[in-house]
Amino acid sequence: MKPIRTVQVPCPQCEATESRPLWSGREHEYENTTDESFDFVRCRDCGLVRLDPRPEVSELSRIYPPNYYAYNLHADDKRPSLTDRMKIRLYQRRIENLVGRLGTSGKVRVLDVGCADGRLLDWYRESPVGDRLETHGIEMDAHAAQVARRRGHRVVTGRFEIDKELEAESFDLILAAHVIEHVDAPTTFARRAAELLAPGGLFVVATPNWDSVDARCLRGNWGGNHFPRHWTLYDERTMRDLAGRIGLEVSRLEYQPNPIFWVWSCHSWLRDHLPEASWPESVFPPVGIFRSSTQSFILLTAFTVLDSLLRRLTGRTASMAVELRRPRSAQERPTPGDRRRAVEGRAPGDPLQRGTWSTRGTEH
Ligand SMILES: [Zn+2]
Repeated sequence: MKPIRTVQVPCPQCEATESRPLWSGREHEYENTTDESFDFVRCRDCGLVRLDPRPEVSELSRIYPPNYYAYNLHADDKRPSLTDRMKIRLYQRRIENLVGRLGTSGKVRVLDVGCADGRLLDWYRESPVGDRLETHGIEMDAHAAQVARRRGHRVVTGRFEIDKELEAESFDLILAAHVIEHVDAPTTFARRAAELLAPGGLFVVATPNWDSVDARCLRGNWGGNHFPRHWTLYDERTMRDLAGRIGLEVSRLEYQPNPIFWVWSCHSWLRDHLPEASWPESVFPPVGIFRSSTQSFILLTAFTVLDSLLRRLTGRTASMAVELRRPRSAQERPTPGDRRRAVEGRAPGDPLQRGTWSTRGTEH
């Protein structure tokens, strides 16, 4: 396999170049990308974790092969399985809660960043708040974007952080589920979201949390690494730092179960420790887990229960959803003091709500 072109990058949050190694690992989900080892490093100044060196942007089509799971989720239109129905219900409850927290009446303009084939937008539109939603998406894969457009959503083809087509202050909800960790300029990405938000709007970022028990134990085998496609890894502290830098405030932070990461962790660990065995491929199929089957149902349920237990014991999981709110007026903007407190931890009387979890779900 031809070596992948890579580039060395400074910290995307504070631009420092000094870093400490965190852990290393390699691709295990796809056979047709690269078999090289990659390193995550932690910025000495701000603590943000980045892949360094990382693949060049010109290698995107290689590290996201045509069989990449997110491009093929609408492959079958048959009746949704029990797992699918649970997952759909979970996402629909989330959008209902988000719309509730916006506290407005009338139309809600929702933008799904990295909307792929529009699957999530479909679910949102079919939710009890669906008739209040105006569904928009942006997607870099032209084919997936076309599929989403055919499903009736307004979709721009392009990369969010460099796009010029979407209009400033024109969205009430911007959802970026498991996208920010994939982009080459995550701070620019988040700043762009802040520009596109209407006053009072919410930018919801779901992303891996590397500061979890499973990540710290499994290190290079942790599923959230997704080598070499995850380029930046956050934890609660660096996420609060980001919010302060882009003029938004963290209004809510929820740790969510992520059973898919567990399937990937098991697959990666077994592949490294039992290289001769073929059963890990069929027991923990890294791509096949997205197909509905009894096996997927059992694995996803079991790992969701495990994550719920871990969250009870440690207060965290390897996945977090953070809601960043744009203040309604200039007076509401965070002051430098607020920003310092946000980085150091929660200030007394800070109205941050910690999410609670009562349903099971699947994340990727
Ligand atoms: Zn930094």
